[in-house]
Amino acid sequence: MASDLHTHTNFSDGSLTPEELLDKAKNIGLKYLAITDHDTVDGVKYIYENGIYPEKKLKIIFGVEFSALNPDYDVHIVGYNIDIYNGALSDMINEIIEARWIRFTEIIKNLQNKKYNIKEADVLQVTGSSRSIGRAHIARALVKKGMFKNLREVFEKMLGKGKPAYAPRYFPEVDEVVDVIRQAGGKAMLAHPGIVGSDSLVEELCRKVDALEVYYPTHKPIDIQKYLGIAKKFNLMVGGGSDFHGIGSKYVDNLGDYTIPDEIAEKFFIKQ
Ligand SMILES: [Zn+2]
Ligand SMILES: [Zn+2]
Repeated sequence: MASDLHTHTNFSDGSLTPEELLDKAKNIGLKYLAITDHDTVDGVKYIYENGIYPEKKLKIIFGVEFSALNPDYDVHIVGYNIDIYNGALSDMINEIIEARWIRFTEIIKNLQNKKYNIKEADVLQVTGSSRSIGRAHIARALVKKGMFKNLREVFEKMLGKGKPAYAPRYFPEVDEVVDVIRQAGGKAMLAHPGIVGSDSLVEELCRKVDALEVYYPTHKPIDIQKYLGIAKKFNLMVGGGSDFHGIGSKYVDNLGDYTIPDEIAEKFFIKQ
């Protein structure tokens, strides 16, 4: 049996609905599945409130992934086993969603200034159930309109950091993110240390969190050994997952292409 502790649905920038994701997980026989949408718990709320949870064979872990403030590096913190109705968590999510909306209109303006014929409404057609509008949604709309070949091209030419249509947004501090996750009863994990871009920063962040995402599609065996060592040094739980976003995006095309052993995943599962 296998498990996956890092997946996204169309409540953030994934392409599958929570039901579709769970169906796939059941079909391929995953044991533990964590849903970790960016800056929202709407997907897990949807599962919970519609009684799609709990599930006997497949065990679902409620999660969320936050981007934290760092001027130079991509710092993502994943929270596991969070109380999705926690007040501090909702406050932070609402603040981020508002900031994302402001940035969304700025990016659209930037694109229009660069003579791209795109409107907010075009993007809202591809956002699915997400209240949390991100650059990936804008990129998808541009590709859909035939202005770019694929998402990567949009980011390389227009939406990536420092590119012509890029606009910054508010990010919470790492300490704030970790604090809110703990207030919501969860465990905080530093996500994909291999793409953070600085090992000294990774070690610094490891002092603040409860877990480290040792297993990740872009981590080579030598990286895994290194991160296992760091996790041990800071007495952290070892985590991992595919960062599945749906077909044709990020690092894996199919759920189940990258999994971790159940013994690792089960430590993140608390019976509800
Ligand atoms: Zn991430
Ligand atoms: Zn992710």
